[in-house]
Amino acid sequence: MTSLENMEGGCQCGNIRYRINASPHILYTCHCSDCQKQSSSAFGMSLIVDTAAVEFVNGDADLKFWDTRGGDGKLKRCAFCPDCGTRLYHGSEDDQQISIKAGSLDDTSQLQPIAHIWLRSAQPWVVFERDKFHCFQQEPDNEEALAQQWQKHTLNR
Ligand SMILES: [Zn+2]
Ligand SMILES: [Zn+2]
Repeated sequence: MTSLENMEGGCQCGNIRYRINASPHILYTCHCSDCQKQSSSAFGMSLIVDTAAVEFVNGDADLKFWDTRGGDGKLKRCAFCPDCGTRLYHGSEDDQQISIKAGSLDDTSQLQPIAHIWLRSAQPWVVFERDKFHCFQQEPDNEEALAQQWQKHTLNR
C-alpha cells in the first residue's frame, strides 16, 4: 500500500519547503487558460489537500500572495516564492482545503491524476487517453466521487 503522507516539496530555489502530513484528496490536471498562464505551460496539476495538513518547514514567512477570482467568482489566493517565482499553492475562499501545485513535489512518481478538466481550452496538441482518465470539457460533474475513486486507486497500488 502506497503512503502519500509526508510528501515533501518546495520552490525551485529551495527556500520555501513544505510537508503534507495527511493523504491528499485528489489529483487532477487542469487545462483552463488560468492554469496555462500560472504554470507558464500547457496545464496545471492540482493536488487537493486539507489546509491543516500542510506544514511549511522552511521559508513560510517569505511566501508572497496574489489574489484573484476564479471563473466561479470565488477568491483564489495564489502563493508563490518571491525569489524564484515558483507557484506553490492556491487557497480557496473557505480555506479548508488548498490546491498544491503538484509539480513542486520532490517526488511525483507515486502520483497519477484521476482526471483532466477544462479540455475545452486545452492546447490542441495535448492528446488525452480517454480510456485511462476521466475527461471533462469544463469542471468535473462530481468531484467527490472522483476523489473517492482516486484515493482507492492511489492508496491501494
Ligand atoms: Zn524559491
Ligand atoms: Zn485551471
